[in-house]
Amino acid sequence: MSESNAGLAPASSLEGSGLLVVKIGSSLLVDSRGQLRRRWMDTLCRRLAERAGEVVVVSSGAIAMGRRALGLARRPRSLAEAQAAAAVGQIHLAGAWSEVWAQQDRTAAQVLLTLGDLEQRPRYLNARATLEMLIARRIVPVVNENDTVATEEIRFGDNDRLAARVAQLLGAQQLLLLSDVDGLYTADPALDPAARRIGRVDSLTPEIEALAGGTGPAGLGTGGMASKLAAVRIAVEAGVGVILASGHEDDPIGAVQAGGPSTWFPAATRPLAARKRWLRGLQHPCGELVLDGGALQAVRSGGSLLAVGVRAVRGCFRRGDLVGLTGPHGACGQGLSAYDSDDAGRIAGLDSARIAEVLDQAGRGPMVHRDDLVLFSDQRSENRESTA
Ligand code: GLU
Repeated sequence: MSESNAGLAPASSLEGSGLLVVKIGSSLLVDSRGQLRRRWMDTLCRRLAERAGEVVVVSSGAIAMGRRALGLARRPRSLAEAQAAAAVGQIHLAGAWSEVWAQQDRTAAQVLLTLGDLEQRPRYLNARATLEMLIARRIVPVVNENDTVATEEIRFGDNDRLAARVAQLLGAQQLLLLSDVDGLYTADPALDPAARRIGRVDSLTPEIEALAGGTGPAGLGTGGMASKLAAVRIAVEAGVGVILASGHEDDPIGAVQAGGPSTWFPAATRPLAARKRWLRGLQHPCGELVLDGGALQAVRSGGSLLAVGVRAVRGCFRRGDLVGLTGPHGACGQGLSAYDSDDAGRIAGLDSARIAEVLDQAGRGPMVHRDDLVLFSDQRSENRESTA
């Protein structure tokens, strides 16, 4: 999870070494005849491949592509129609991304997520572990909503929000929202010649929110400006800076890097500080892990809690549940367990090599990952860090 975040301006953060999540709207990828804009995708991937940092692509366009194959002249009306279109379109979309990335000597991976995947903790941990594994291997995850299974109530609905949640999940440095608007305006530029683009927004005040209320230019995009600002809020509060820029340029990344139009929303905090605050606020642990002195020292110096340092497991909990941590001198913190209580009990005290033997499968790494763990004694330093 990135710690070097806060004050990067758009151009330098796009060049930087941190993880970048790029969200691409349907109208940028698919032209009016339902064809993919391959040349545009090539340029984008070339630019992204030039960056030192890793990238996650959140790509819309499945419904827009599938619509043509199903012979639908207009945007699908019913959810079932949209889902069928997405099923047809997604396979083409993923294939195209895979080919375009291959030209940059990079492998792409398809990751389809629903809202529930990021809201239910065991699935959240699975999604994060998969994405982190791909990124560690320099594979480019290409994410979309799993449109075929999500029902009306459990849809992200728009990929702006999905992209923000993915950026939050991974502690990304920056989220780039490419759509058909080049930023947030003081008024609708189509109606008001005096409308001005706002270059930088440090705080999402009610006045700023009100600017998204009308049917401004972003109304043309799938999500609209209101959904973009909702995504911005999720991201900046999680420590991820956001750049809103137009994707209509042939080379949108190059344009932002050259100082072209955009609106920049700097992160309000650092990703790790935001996550630790969230972890600290969780209540009602379902169980308890008792640490030996060595394990306590390891987690105090920023390490994960390994099974070998766990002396006892109490309570009944599932993977991803909150557990209290108790050191030799009493309660010392809390965290999300990567194992359910049965497995945790079986591997407590064992070193990593033995875990696979006991569980008949490769383990899931540490008992509590360092990003999922908070120590009560750290509170003051975190408060300092989050306001830094
Ligand atoms: N998941 C939808 C698709 O691939 C797009 C949703 C959105 O554009 O926000 O067509």
